[in-house]
Amino acid sequence: MKTVLVEAEEPPSATPRRQSPSKKSFIQTTPAPTLAVAAPVRRIRPEFKVSERSAEFLRRHYPDATVDNWNDWRWQNRYRVRTLADLERMIRLSDEETDAIRRHAGALPVGITPYYASLLDSEDSLQGLRRSVVPVLGEYIVSRGENEDPLGEDSHSPVPGLVHRYPDRVLLLVTNFCSVYCRYCTRARMVGSVGERSVKKGDIELALDYIARTPVIRDVLISGGDPLSLDDDRLDYILGRLRKIPHVEFVRIGSKQPVVQPMRITRALTRVLKRYHPLWMSLHFTHPDELTPEVAEACGRLADAGIPLGSQTVLLKDVNDDLDTMKSLMQGLLRIRVKPYYLYQCDPISGSGHFRTPVSKGVELIRGLRGHTTGYAVPTFVVDAPNGGGKIPVSPDYVVGYEGSDLLLTSYDGGTYRYPDSGERLHDSHGDSK
Ligand code: SF4
Repeated sequence: MKTVLVEAEEPPSATPRRQSPSKKSFIQTTPAPTLAVAAPVRRIRPEFKVSERSAEFLRRHYPDATVDNWNDWRWQNRYRVRTLADLERMIRLSDEETDAIRRHAGALPVGITPYYASLLDSEDSLQGLRRSVVPVLGEYIVSRGENEDPLGEDSHSPVPGLVHRYPDRVLLLVTNFCSVYCRYCTRARMVGSVGERSVKKGDIELALDYIARTPVIRDVLISGGDPLSLDDDRLDYILGRLRKIPHVEFVRIGSKQPVVQPMRITRALTRVLKRYHPLWMSLHFTHPDELTPEVAEACGRLADAGIPLGSQTVLLKDVNDDLDTMKSLMQGLLRIRVKPYYLYQCDPISGSGHFRTPVSKGVELIRGLRGHTTGYAVPTFVVDAPNGGGKIPVSPDYVVGYEGSDLLLTSYDGGTYRYPDSGERLHDSHGDSK
């Protein structure tokens, strides 16, 4: 009898069975074939690769769980690392980290999926990924110009859960929940606060109604929190409602789920998403250590579903602010079918001074990428202007000036080149144009 394979979405068994992974570098989660005339296998988990690193972490820290548990995104949510005791079981915390976690209260709690925890260095508190998700005392120091809502989103919110800052597009915030909380989050004031998943269904209805009765809106960015933390039915509903609005031409989803919980990208999810093209995605990447086989698989599934993928990266001091790290991340993104899109100057959110570099650092990094590697690997460096000014690109200046009507330009490697320009003059770098 032919075996029928059907994907399952149910939570794992309440009594997970230990399953010994093989010694191969990747472990497939498909069960071994059943013998003879047994009833057809009705359900299996979607197949995901599990790296040796993940398998070892699972054996060590979740000995009662199976590989199927690990590959279930709901299990990953349920077993998130959320307390000091959880973290101490997995990594040797520095005194500063311990103090910072003890002191924490309010929004932006600690939250790390077991998968993402497996990427953290258990000994080195200065590892980039670890700094991005484990609190330090710098979070409690408010520097000049910082505040809870630096982008002025709340003042551009005509209804709860919707930001209408630009003329033709809106930001639709569908959840407060993220499976991993980044310590530099621009929406720290709201994510994980007042009870996770606290965006009310009624608010989403109000926001959808606002979009429907505002014909200038042609582009909706679904964000949060992390929209892909919603279950498939809820996403299906929201995307379906948006698609029925004739003036909404374009829908985007902003997410870090494929990076912190790649097993969320099930085939069932991609079947839902591909019904709503044109659908684009902006994925939040921080460091090349995130470019694992599991993440490559997740991005490949999204790309195969026809979803163009762009990356968003926040420039973070001592995390990704050196050229080798940034180049490695940007080149690695292209390998997993993600186009580097934005590199953000870290927003002046309260308690983020320890992450912030001078703006000149971002310009220096773009100068180190442009011309030195594939053009597709060069993101646009932007400062999101405080109080709702929007994203403002800040680029290296390659214009030397004019000699007569010749424009003098500097190339990526420092050479000076003459271009026979005509018509209106550019502003040159000495301010003596026109
Ligand atoms: S995934 Fe995005 S919304 Fe969630 S904590 Fe990180 S930066 Fe904030």
